[in-house]
Amino acid sequence: PEKTDMSVFEEVESEVRSYCRSFPTIFEKAKGYKLWDRQGREYIDFFAGAGTLNYGHNESGMQKRLIEYLTSDGIVHSLDMATSSKEEFLSRFQDVILKPRNLEYKVMFPGPTGTNAVESALKLARKVTGRQTVVSFTRGFHGMTLGSLAVTGNAFKRKGAGIPLTGAVSLPYDQYNENIDSLTLLERYLEDKGSGVDLPAAVILETVQGEGGINAASFEWLKQVEQICRRYDVLLIVDDIQAGCGRTGTFFSFEPAEIQPDIVCLSKSLSGYGVPFAVTLFRPDLDTWAPGEHNGTFRGHNLAFVAATEALRFWETDAFSREVQRKGDRVKAALQKIADKHPDLITQVRGRGLMLGMEFPKEGLADEVCSEAFKRGLIMETSGPNSEVVKLLPPLIIDDEGLDKGLGILEESIESA
Ligand code: PLP
Repeated sequence: PEKTDMSVFEEVESEVRSYCRSFPTIFEKAKGYKLWDRQGREYIDFFAGAGTLNYGHNESGMQKRLIEYLTSDGIVHSLDMATSSKEEFLSRFQDVILKPRNLEYKVMFPGPTGTNAVESALKLARKVTGRQTVVSFTRGFHGMTLGSLAVTGNAFKRKGAGIPLTGAVSLPYDQYNENIDSLTLLERYLEDKGSGVDLPAAVILETVQGEGGINAASFEWLKQVEQICRRYDVLLIVDDIQAGCGRTGTFFSFEPAEIQPDIVCLSKSLSGYGVPFAVTLFRPDLDTWAPGEHNGTFRGHNLAFVAATEALRFWETDAFSREVQRKGDRVKAALQKIADKHPDLITQVRGRGLMLGMEFPKEGLADEVCSEAFKRGLIMETSGPNSEVVKLLPPLIIDDEGLDKGLGILEESIESA
């Protein structure tokens, strides 16, 4: 086919595809924070595979380990067998991530992708408590399967189910509801339920809502939600699928809030290489499923174990974390400067670490900015209920030069959109 011929995508692939469908090119290669299309055009990647590529594309250490593993006939797929690569992942994850943070969790492999982690968390919370309802928050996003979709605060996405989704109660999230005391609402709701089976099984939240428009909850709100959960004996699930793995500056996004969720979901950048991988972490006393009560074929996968173990080297000291925070502050200040120049177009810059967003209330403008940026060699996507937020998720390994170049393109794109 011609280098620019996209007919096979248009004729064969379902219309349901969404990410980057407005970028009319065929991508072919990627390294670090850059992508190249079939015509050899270079792009800076501020999308990072929707947050799966925190360490960049084809990170050299992981690439080397994966190639070595494959060429030495390492086991690729093994279901629940004990393998060397699983052993290495479990012990390194324990030593590098959990122990230094005083976190005691059992590690479960729920399936390849984020929604599998969320489904297992919701199901486990229900099984342990014998209760049905899960409290979620407006603008939260937890996945596209029926359970995770039920707790997702996006009517358009829920409509995709075609039927009413049950078992969830949505309450206002922090930040977006300045005139609503969301903690009092949560507490009144739980009070009203009394005790026992009428109470919800769990509360599920993102500390920074990614798909909902980069809404960052305050640490105080998170602490209070944790305390309310404890008071009413309701489990707290933190969905750290997008905000975790360093995106907000610490491995778990909830670390600076000093909370300890009962259940944590991780996926996206956990393998670090874009290999589908997810874990559900839960308090050891919640480990109540009998063998086989929750299983599946593609759970922990050895290629993911190999890549994820190598990715943990970024977390051996706090240098990487400090760098992400430094770069995050730098980008946020630069975005604020751009926003200050265009108060008529941009109402807010927000987020934490390198999970940042810029809100363009005029309908369609954020998407237009992304299209203009694509033409100039920068990949970004929008989020928020009306796609009103330009979302910036550069790979965390990006250098200042890449950031400045991307920010320069963003500014030009805003001016010409
Ligand atoms: N939870 C959060 C916070 C997410 O951002 C996403 C995906 O964007 C998911 C869950 C679902 O993950 P997946 O698309 O891998 O099923």
